[in-house]
Amino acid sequence: MKCDKCNKEAVIFQKYSGMHLCSTHQMADVERKIKRRMRQDRMVLPGDHIAVGMSGGKDSAVTLSILVETFSKRPDIKFTAITIDEGIDGYRNFSIPKVKELCDELGVDHIVVSFKEEIGHTLDDILKRERKEASCTYCGVFRRTLLNRTARSIGANKVATGHNLDDDAQVVIMNIMNGDIERLARMRPDRIQDGLVPRIKPLMDVPEKEIALYAFLKGLPFYMGECPYARESLRGEIKDMLNDFENRHPGTKYSIMRGFDDMIDCIKTKYQQVPLNKCEICGEPGIKGVCQTCKLKERVKIN
Ligand code: SF4
Ligand SMILES: [Zn+2]
Ligand SMILES: [Zn+2]
Repeated sequence: MKCDKCNKEAVIFQKYSGMHLCSTHQMADVERKIKRRMRQDRMVLPGDHIAVGMSGGKDSAVTLSILVETFSKRPDIKFTAITIDEGIDGYRNFSIPKVKELCDELGVDHIVVSFKEEIGHTLDDILKRERKEASCTYCGVFRRTLLNRTARSIGANKVATGHNLDDDAQVVIMNIMNGDIERLARMRPDRIQDGLVPRIKPLMDVPEKEIALYAFLKGLPFYMGECPYARESLRGEIKDMLNDFENRHPGTKYSIMRGFDDMIDCIKTKYQQVPLNKCEICGEPGIKGVCQTCKLKERVKIN
């Protein structure tokens, strides 16, 4: 098949747009979607110091690479990469070297913060000991806190993550399936919360498959393996379901997000953003009393 824009050999068929694209035009299309979103939401502003959460996978590699390239002529904008090492054997030990390689190529400082040092145990140890929650719950709670705390400690005023269209569509469907509409409302916060570094998601309009192809075509160093715990989660099932739907009904993921954006204002009138308090133990932002991180930390304490 030929590219619909230049007649070169196509590398992808975007079912939802009906376009065949060659490598040059596929890469240009991904960059256009990312830059359009960054512009629309004014994600990057003069003087920003942006901490980029780096897992070593394709999404974070593309996020950092595009941010650094886009703002290469803006010395007032600074980027620092932060990797949270959860301690997942056979996964993080392969992905962290990829982050280091990319950061060296791009000239970006890289900080690694580990569960072992900060929480006292690796995720593998925690899961060997306690399985009351889904593995991603322990991981997500601790990772969010460490990423936020580290970003704040280096003076970053934003955290960029590699969440893509698929991730956001999965979270919308998961919250609906869980009946957790309050959490759905929290996906689009209205204002900055004290102690929480605001998040930006430059890849939110790009399907995962296109990001993978972009990372590959651009020759970015990234780790292709999947977290061994990923398949245990409801999220993994929703991912498969949405991919199946997307295949049979192209454009499903974009439609989910369009519908979500259309109803978010209504949802937020019922579930208004509550101001956060400081955790009584660690001082990190939380709803009230003791934060979820401290509660979980206490439960998984290994004496
Ligand atoms: S899949 Fe779950 S356990 Fe694995 S890194 Fe992601 S959140 Fe953590
Ligand atoms: Zn082309
Ligand atoms: Zn706490």
